[in-house]
Amino acid sequence: MFERITEETFDEIFPLLEAAFPVTELRIREEQKKLLRETCYRLYGVRKNGMFAAVFAAWEIDDFLYIEHFAVKEEYRNGGYGGSLLDLFLEEKGKAMVLEVEVPEDEMTERRVGFYERHGLVYNEYPYLQPPMRKGQDLLPLRFMTKPAAIEEKTYERYKKRIYEVVYKYKSEEEEALNMKYCFGIDIGGTTVKIGLVAENGEIVTRWEVPTRKGSDPTGLLEDVKASLEACMAERKIGQADILGIGMAAPGPVTADGVLHGCVNIGWGDVDLDDLAEEVIGISPVRLGNDARVAALGEAAYGAGKGAKSMLMLTLGTGVGGGVVLDGHILMGSSGVAGEIGHMTIDPYETETCGCGKTGCLEQYASATGMVRAAEKFLQEKTDDSVLRQLKQVTAKDLWDAAKDGDKLANEITDFVCDRLGAAIANATYLVDTETVVIGGGVCAAGKFLLDKIENAYNAKVFAHSRNKRFALAELGNDAGIRGAAALILQDAE
Ligand code: ZN
Repeated sequence: MFERITEETFDEIFPLLEAAFPVTELRIREEQKKLLRETCYRLYGVRKNGMFAAVFAAWEIDDFLYIEHFAVKEEYRNGGYGGSLLDLFLEEKGKAMVLEVEVPEDEMTERRVGFYERHGLVYNEYPYLQPPMRKGQDLLPLRFMTKPAAIEEKTYERYKKRIYEVVYKYKSEEEEALNMKYCFGIDIGGTTVKIGLVAENGEIVTRWEVPTRKGSDPTGLLEDVKASLEACMAERKIGQADILGIGMAAPGPVTADGVLHGCVNIGWGDVDLDDLAEEVIGISPVRLGNDARVAALGEAAYGAGKGAKSMLMLTLGTGVGGGVVLDGHILMGSSGVAGEIGHMTIDPYETETCGCGKTGCLEQYASATGMVRAAEKFLQEKTDDSVLRQLKQVTAKDLWDAAKDGDKLANEITDFVCDRLGAAIANATYLVDTETVVIGGGVCAAGKFLLDKIENAYNAKVFAHSRNKRFALAELGNDAGIRGAAALILQDAE
């Protein structure tokens, strides 16, 4: 019944495998052929009318055989091949357990996995397991949902592990965890320091906060951070060697040498924060970035800007933060303010002063407070009816809610705000011309309505052929800081 596939017939089976099984197709590419040939214990085929109609690839794993069954025609399925193969291999090996994976033809059929085992003269077939396996998926999601009752737990675990190692070249989850490297992402804010233990893949494993210790010397705050990092490492049994470094975000201009040029919120002057942190915390390297730029890096690496070669981000919150990411790295500039779009002069004739001490900055119109200021002005200067007039104090959210509901005056105000945002993004385009523009911050809760308004205003301001820029809403929310800080380390680790 079974025919051993020889060197001569080896090439004949690949078209068959590729046609029968897209998952195999992924694995049986040229470089994989060698692997299959080298690792495979046996390849058997069943011929019908001179052609291979079904192929069985067997890998020897410990005392067992793992078999993949590739059938090209329905009638060669469920043919009791598992049992027949078991007999065949038993002749050679004396004992065997066979795991047979049958490969479905249609998309919805789940892969079926059967266990066969020989105990003396007794032949057992265990109930089919139904792992959630769909055509076109790689083999990684293969999950062993139920352990057949007659198989010992230890045997079963070892078997699973070896299947991943030998057949799929994947490491088991435990092994993955053992070899896992981490970094810390730290986002220093005016009230709290947000800290995350971040795995190599950029996912946050755990996060917590410590209160921001204020004062002119950052050492106290860094000591608090050190104590909490050590507690985390002790609890999770993570050694120094498993920590790739610390990424840090701080609310002030940062230059490429790791110097923070003043941090008014906390009380710091110029400080060489990356070096000081390495010294106090005792983990290196420490890499530092401005908080808005670091959040942009987070979105570029793991969020709304993922896959883009270049990205501009605007964070519309209490202020307007900004950042430019080019080829996976923050554009820092020579004084640490590159990307600081919130303080781009948008109205040189403005008389009121921005938080930065200058006048006419984008932040004066496009931050939450700037939007409220604009709303109050419009309400004062115009006589139009508006739902906003019924409110004692208008917030940015009220403004956007009213605009979405079709309130005419609210739409005039949001248009005024977005015209300025559009102009600023157009100005930025003439300098850095990024592929993607990401809008984040509390105000972006207004969603696509806000995004479309900004995009329309941008399009009205920029050269026609520059209008195909991708606009997206930020995706990482409050995690952008921690994940971006981690990216400062992980981008080098790759
Ligand atoms: Zn300003």
